[in-house]
Amino acid sequence: MKNKCTICLSEDTWLISSRMSLHKCKKCDHTFTVIKRVEEETYEEDYYLKMHKNWFANPDFGLFENVYETSSSFLGNGKVKLADVGCGQGAFLKHLQNKYQSESPELSGIDIIENSHPGIKFESGDFLQMKFDEGYNIITSFMVIEHVIDPHLFIKKMAESITSDGVIVVNTINNGSLIYRIARFLNNLGFSTSHDRLYDHHHLQHYTNKSLKTLLEMEGLEVLKVKNHNYKLKAVDVPPSNPIIMGAYKLMVAGMFLLSVPLNWGHHQTLYCKKKK
Ligand SMILES: [Zn+2]
Repeated sequence: MKNKCTICLSEDTWLISSRMSLHKCKKCDHTFTVIKRVEEETYEEDYYLKMHKNWFANPDFGLFENVYETSSSFLGNGKVKLADVGCGQGAFLKHLQNKYQSESPELSGIDIIENSHPGIKFESGDFLQMKFDEGYNIITSFMVIEHVIDPHLFIKKMAESITSDGVIVVNTINNGSLIYRIARFLNNLGFSTSHDRLYDHHHLQHYTNKSLKTLLEMEGLEVLKVKNHNYKLKAVDVPPSNPIIMGAYKLMVAGMFLLSVPLNWGHHQTLYCKKKK
């Protein structure tokens, strides 16, 4: 049986890896993981503490400032009310508060986990079930949309929760990046370690620029800007091994980050959009 593409809903998809339950759509270029049970998508403590230790310990402040400044440049004058969906412990929000002080926008964070911090309004629960009438004019989400089973519901909810001229920012991994391309190439040669790590079951949606743009446009949004980029080398999580292999791995990633810049094949992508007029 063919699996419907989770983005463009086409049935023109094919199984590209049965080991990883990976399917690819011919029409919109999207790759998606079909999980048998929702429980497969769970987050043990290891997910934060071991597998992604460096990632969570090294937030990308440069990216945070860039996202805030770019998204607010698409707004007119007036007070900025910003909500970050899937905010985790609120690294992005806390950084904005710190950096912009009295100029800081009004900040809200939404996540399944509970948080509290002076000056930031945190709500815990399922974003899809929440009701907003707060007039947010910027809604961001960092590294969330690759985890969701139904990306359309997620974007619909973001679009519903924003003012008519508000900006939505979606940040995720780039399946068209140099690292993913090399991992797929190596996998075809029989070396599956990096491939299987990148396509780990915690990520269900593997977007290219094209498939993410397709999703946003199908939900009535106009894409204003697409940016492919890398992150700090310090935040790279290295599979535990002996120090020489770990060093070589980091060096390889550094080389790929460097090479990806002129090709515009950065490891992450950030898209900015507004509701279509
Ligand atoms: Zn598709």
